[in-house]
Amino acid sequence: MKPRLALIAHDKKKDDMITLAGEYLDFLKGCTLSATGTTGGRLINELGLAVDRKHSGPVGGDLQIGAMLVEGGIDCVIFLRDPMTPQPHEPDINALVRACDVHNIPCATNVSTARLVLSQLAASNQA
Ligand code: PGA
Repeated sequence: MKPRLALIAHDKKKDDMITLAGEYLDFLKGCTLSATGTTGGRLINELGLAVDRKHSGPVGGDLQIGAMLVEGGIDCVIFLRDPMTPQPHEPDINALVRACDVHNIPCATNVSTARLVLSQLAASNQA
């Protein structure tokens, strides 16, 4: 089965997400991708990826991804959070990260961790 990844980036981290996804483009093209609304729009428009776009994070997109995860539909979350900017949907962000921990789903919250996780997934996908 294709790896099922969720991609989310806060506004000041969206450029980082596009750069990161560009680095792993070939691998990501072979994955089933979900993303919050604005992040997903950029991945589609700027990289040509096929993405199941949920609502924007502040209006429930993080919760939609969390619900998919709880149902067993997500294998890995790349969630580039902005730790320097207060977010109106902080409870939703915490709920998603908590759901990852409850269900033992890898959740990369910064670019360095995301690179480690994506490199490992890409390598094991080739094996
Ligand atoms: P967005 O949501 O991709 O719609 O901007 C991300 C977030 O803020 O959680």
